[in-house]
Amino acid sequence: MSELRAVGCEVRVFAGRLLADPETFLNASGRPFQVFTPFYRALVQRLTAAEPSVGSSAPDRMQGATSRLASASIGELGLLPTVSWDDGLRRAWTPGEAGAHLRLQRFLAGAVQNYAERRDRPDLDGVSRLSPHLHFGEISPRQVWHAAHAIPGAEPFLRQLAWREFSYHLLHHFPHTPVAPLRPQFASFPWRSDRHGLRAWQRGQTGYPLVDAGMRQLWSEGWVHNRVRMLVASFLTKDLLIPWQDGARWFWDTLVDADLANNTQGWQWTAGCGADAAPYFRVFNPVTQGMKFDPDGAYVRRWIPELARMPSEWIHRPWEAPAQTLADAGVRLGVTYPEPIVDHAFARDRALQAYHRITRR
Ligand SMILES: Cc1cc2nc3c(=O)[nH]c(=O)nc-3n(C[C@H](O)[C@H](O)[C@H](O)COP(=O)(O)OP(=O)(O)OC[C@H]3O[C@@H](n4cnc5c(N)ncnc54)[C@H](O)[C@@H]3O)c2cc1C
Repeated sequence: MSELRAVGCEVRVFAGRLLADPETFLNASGRPFQVFTPFYRALVQRLTAAEPSVGSSAPDRMQGATSRLASASIGELGLLPTVSWDDGLRRAWTPGEAGAHLRLQRFLAGAVQNYAERRDRPDLDGVSRLSPHLHFGEISPRQVWHAAHAIPGAEPFLRQLAWREFSYHLLHHFPHTPVAPLRPQFASFPWRSDRHGLRAWQRGQTGYPLVDAGMRQLWSEGWVHNRVRMLVASFLTKDLLIPWQDGARWFWDTLVDADLANNTQGWQWTAGCGADAAPYFRVFNPVTQGMKFDPDGAYVRRWIPELARMPSEWIHRPWEAPAQTLADAGVRLGVTYPEPIVDHAFARDRALQAYHRITRR
């Protein structure tokens, strides 16, 4: 901006990517919000009082450069991979404004009505998958809000959209948070260095089926369901005690919706060191999360074909299955699918001890 102004251009900035400008949207004491519920209440109040403009439509014509500029064609830039590793991405996404609006329309015509009951189920098609489109500005949160807010039952969905606002609000006011915890006592948290554990997590080879399914979906589609993002992040930071920054970096490299505000907030929330975060002592149990949110194991079967023939009763804890059940399903633990890389009960206690070390200081 300063460069443009220096050469005499008029520069005007609009918070079009957001519903409320973080600079001016503050709490009653004129300070940044740090708790979601009052933030959300104030946001709804503001948007009810004055609906945000959805912006102007695209101009019919734009004045381009007057002289021809030397340039390369897109093909010449060689941006597409020569070895095809991107089939999953191609199948999952239609980048661009038209794809974004089609996704919104389909979601609003169907899944939004059952969003509250289905939004936590990775085995169902219950969420909008708008995140990459929102990130790249192919659709604006104002357009989404405008289209959804009059639909009965859409409130839980709009509340999630408000989490995105909250993340941007936090990033704006606490710009150090992509690298450092918002809660300063976490700076001295006794994280472990565990290259083997990090690699197993990245590759979906931890031996915990719901964690591994999520990490393989991430690698294939560049997207993971929110419930599973929380679980895999909890597993990395609490079961393995690996710094949340390592997880955030891997997400940054692999997500199609990688977004500095949401990714930072999501990791800090799960690790317990962010604003209005999940308490550190809340450690997700990968088995009970699986039984609750993927009750028939359909999500795990989809992403872990080695476990496809496991009965639902055992699919989230194959190491406890009777030997005959494993043999019938063609599973050889430690050969076709890993044994758990850490015992969850042990890991949970270890995490709580680590946490008590920083809270006692
Ligand atoms: C560890 C971790 C990392 C994350 N990293 C990212 C990231 O890099 N980019 C990203 O866009 N989201 C991130 N999220 C938030 C959330 O998981 C995704 O926004 C959501 O899963 C996208 O799917 P959807 O579009 O179907 O969401 P829907 O459930 O349909 O929600 C609609 C929109 O609301 C916003 N939203 C929903 N949940 C959240 C949330 N918990 N926090 C912030 N915004 C939310 C998103 O913009 C989303 O597109 C992360 C969450 C966690 C726990």
